Amino acid sequence: MTLPDLKKELEIARTRLAKLETENEVAECAMDMTLEKLIFENIPGGMAVIGLDGSILVPNSEASQIIGYTTEEIVKLNASSIICNRQDLLTLLKQLKQGKIISGYPLMLRCKDNSTIWTSFSAKPIEYGGSKAALITFTDITKHKQALKELELDEIRFEMLYTISGMIHKPEKDILNFALDAIVKVTDSEFGYIFHLNEDETELSLHAWSTDALRQCKIKSMPRVFKIEDTGLWGNAVRQRKPIITNDYMACPNKRGHPEGHVPIIRHMNIPVFEGKRITFVAGVGNKDTEYTKEDIRQLDLVMDGTTSVLHRKRAITAMEKAHDRLEERVQDRTAKLQKANEDFARLTTKLIKQDKERELAKKTLIRYERIISSSPDLISLIDQEHRFVMVNDAYEKAFGIKQEAIIGHSIHGILEDTVLDERLHKNVDKTFNGEVIKVETWVNFPTLGKRFMAVFYHPVSIEEGIIEFVSIEARDMTDLKTKEEALREAAERLDLATDAGNIGIWEWDLLDDDTIWDNKMHELYKVTPGEFDSIYDAWRTRLHEEDLPEIERELADCIAEKKRFDTEFRIVWPDGSVRFIRAAASLRINEDGVPFSMTGVNWDVTDRRTMEIELRRLASTDPLTGASNRRHFMDRLQAEFERCKRYSTPMVLLSIDIDHFKKINDSFGHPDGDEVLKDLVQRCKATLRTTDVFGRVGGEEFLAALTQTSNIAGERTAERLRSIIESNPVSVHGNQIPYTISIGLTGILDEDSSIEPLLKRADEALYKAKNNGRNRVEKH
Ligand code: GH3
Ligand code: MG
Ligand code: MG
Repeated sequence: MTLPDLKKELEIARTRLAKLETENEVAECAMDMTLEKLIFENIPGGMAVIGLDGSILVPNSEASQIIGYTTEEIVKLNASSIICNRQDLLTLLKQLKQGKIISGYPLMLRCKDNSTIWTSFSAKPIEYGGSKAALITFTDITKHKQALKELELDEIRFEMLYTISGMIHKPEKDILNFALDAIVKVTDSEFGYIFHLNEDETELSLHAWSTDALRQCKIKSMPRVFKIEDTGLWGNAVRQRKPIITNDYMACPNKRGHPEGHVPIIRHMNIPVFEGKRITFVAGVGNKDTEYTKEDIRQLDLVMDGTTSVLHRKRAITAMEKAHDRLEERVQDRTAKLQKANEDFARLTTKLIKQDKERELAKKTLIRYERIISSSPDLISLIDQEHRFVMVNDAYEKAFGIKQEAIIGHSIHGILEDTVLDERLHKNVDKTFNGEVIKVETWVNFPTLGKRFMAVFYHPVSIEEGIIEFVSIEARDMTDLKTKEEALREAAERLDLATDAGNIGIWEWDLLDDDTIWDNKMHELYKVTPGEFDSIYDAWRTRLHEEDLPEIERELADCIAEKKRFDTEFRIVWPDGSVRFIRAAASLRINEDGVPFSMTGVNWDVTDRRTMEIELRRLASTDPLTGASNRRHFMDRLQAEFERCKRYSTPMVLLSIDIDHFKKINDSFGHPDGDEVLKDLVQRCKATLRTTDVFGRVGGEEFLAALTQTSNIAGERTAERLRSIIESNPVSVHGNQIPYTISIGLTGILDEDSSIEPLLKRADEALYKAKNNGRNRVEKH
């Protein structure tokens, strides 16, 4: 045996020894750990010792089985590759490091086949092999968790469906919006959508994105209509007519991407919603935290089922309401038609009754017309196209002295003896058959009536429209009218001559149109050129003397109101300022209702006569020597003033004036000079008295003055002044100064005075007193 061989032997021996020692150690250890191992391996649920860095140190076999690994595989893993949520792992390790015990923590684990399970996790910090570690236990509670989740989702779904069913009267859009939020909730998703599918299942149109999705997306313009053939993954639900779950979207080969700004899709699931065999909606959800399962499809299906059934019910109700409305409309339409038919019927009945009445009336009218025609004093006949009489009325018999039967059927030729008229008759009948309406006036010599002036009317008569079958001839006796007309014309001519000769203007006032016409003479009388004024009435008013206008207009109105003759005189003023007196007379023309409709009148100039009259009147009322009012005129005026004073209880003073010793004046200076004294006295009196006072010469040298509106005291003052003026102003006649005086008797009106007699008497007595008391003085009574 060489050394190397020995070394080799030794090495083998050492290795064997080591192995034996190890085997011995393990056997010893196994002997020591048997009870713990028994418990460790047989405890229900997974159990393991893990390091506080997450390394799995010792698992029991169930721990491996629960998550589908072998013990050899699991010890190579770290807890971080088994616990789904990294945050959960960090929390648990942190607590264990702090020495805390964890009990019943719900933890999701990822199995070897990549599926996940829910576990109830407990852990306790321990010392293991001299290091800090943790003893963990966990049991699979996936089924329990799923049952709970299902219950919870069922509750949510129930709630949602309950709400949806209550939305039946809300718009379809609202119901779908609500359903959309519901499917997002019951599937624990981040977003959802509902699309309508068109009838031939080629086009999807977006109903809405869930509100959450819209919040998360910043999509600027979302297409609303998609062709099925253009859709990617999400169109599969339609193409394959079944729900599609895509739990790893990114790995999916036929995804087409999504609109810019869309939330990144991690997981996605959608379902076709059937109505019978047809797909009407596609509902989809996405980005659930965990993978979509059949349970999510069930939830989505149930919500969409509930929704579509509510939509069905809603559509049924709407359709029913519409049908009801249509029915109602039809009923109303029918009712209206029926009502109209009733009205039409009533109208027709009324019309028939009316027609019957009209026929009856027409019959009566016809009879009446026949009677009127036959009894008319006018000659009425109907002539046919052969110019034969078809009908003549009774008047013919009288006018021609032949029986009706002898005329009817005979030619009109020869009915008139005058051959010229006979010729004209034929011609006129011919013209009328050509459609003319003729009126002629002519003298006719009748066999019985003699020569009469006739107005003859020829009228075409059509029984059928367009054909003139007859001509009616109506001849009216106008002889009387003609005679009167001629008489009137003659009268008018005579009147023209007369008015012209007598400078009489004629006017006519149309009361209805308020229009007046003047003839030429009127214009001459008023010095008005035609057209100078807007209207004749204006011209008349302008020329009329302003003092006379109100009175004359009143008179004119009275005449019309009382329907009486207008007869008056007034003054007019010509443009050169000269005043003319016009006499006017007019009479009213009154219609059958007693209403005046026009006034015809005449005007003529009476200035010359009036001037003469005024002069005559003046002469008749004045004393020719002195120009003072004479006794009669004075007495008339005194009477009038006295009456006025009594009526208005105003005072008046009467003075009786007498020249003292006038006889002596006459004797001394002669009668003519005495006349001058009388004239002087009158001038002095007129100058002293007021114009309203009444003064007159009532005897040879006796005068009376009535001072109106004057008290006794004022009257005395006036009398005294007059007396004094006379006394101090002698009359100078032919170089002689003739002094004279007067005596005045004064009295006022007393309440008991009922006439001027006592007044005059008292004035006289006062004068007598003045004479007695020495003359040249005033005395009162
Ligand atoms: P006594 O003072 O009393 O009044 O005196 P007397 O002379 O004025 O009175 P009497 O009555 O006696 O005389 C009036 C005279 O007046 C008488 C008459 O001749 C005169 N006489 C009358 N009329 C006229 C007249 O017109 N002219 C003139 N010159 N004298 C006339
Ligand atoms: Mg005398
Ligand atoms: Mg005398």
